[in-house]
Amino acid sequence: MPEFERETRSAEETIAFGAELAAHLRPPALVLLYGELGAGKTTLAKGIISGLGAARLEDITSPTFTLVHAFGNHGLVYHVDLYRISGRHDLDSIGLDDLLAEPAVILVEWAEKLALRTDWPVIEIRLESSGADDRRRIRVRDEAGALHGLAQPARGT
Ligand code: ADP
Ligand code: MG
Repeated sequence: MPEFERETRSAEETIAFGAELAAHLRPPALVLLYGELGAGKTTLAKGIISGLGAARLEDITSPTFTLVHAFGNHGLVYHVDLYRISGRHDLDSIGLDDLLAEPAVILVEWAEKLALRTDWPVIEIRLESSGADDRRRIRVRDEAGALHGLAQPARGT
């Protein structure tokens, strides 16, 4: 299904949703995460990375200052945060082109800062906070069918 959405009501639910996505995710895949500060990008990334079996939940932190965290047990998983990057750059100019050298799952926070040219399947995920509470609207766009075999309930029902 190319596009679907989910609402979560807590960080735990967002982590669980990430694990659900991870179960259908195989390298190579580029997961682009969009959303304001505090929207839940890192939280969802934690669910995906731990769901992939690449790291334990408590060992996954935001790569805000390091730009990229690499996890390696069951295939390569990279967690990138472009928050501190100014302007639009490609992975090449940030020094991350090596990440595309072999099939991996690459998660990118602040993906709007990426000027992307790739033949990898791309999954776009947009997170929105409704305001003061813990609800998050999470929209997933999987144009390339990278979420293998993910069956979704019909929308708007
Ligand atoms: P981002 O990476 O987008 O800046 P984080 O994942 O670091 O966001 O932070 C999200 C914050 O919002 C965390 O403190 C988390 O506990 C809280 N939160 C509350 N409700 C949710 C939810 N439904 N989904 C994700 N995070 C939530
Ligand atoms: Mg973050």
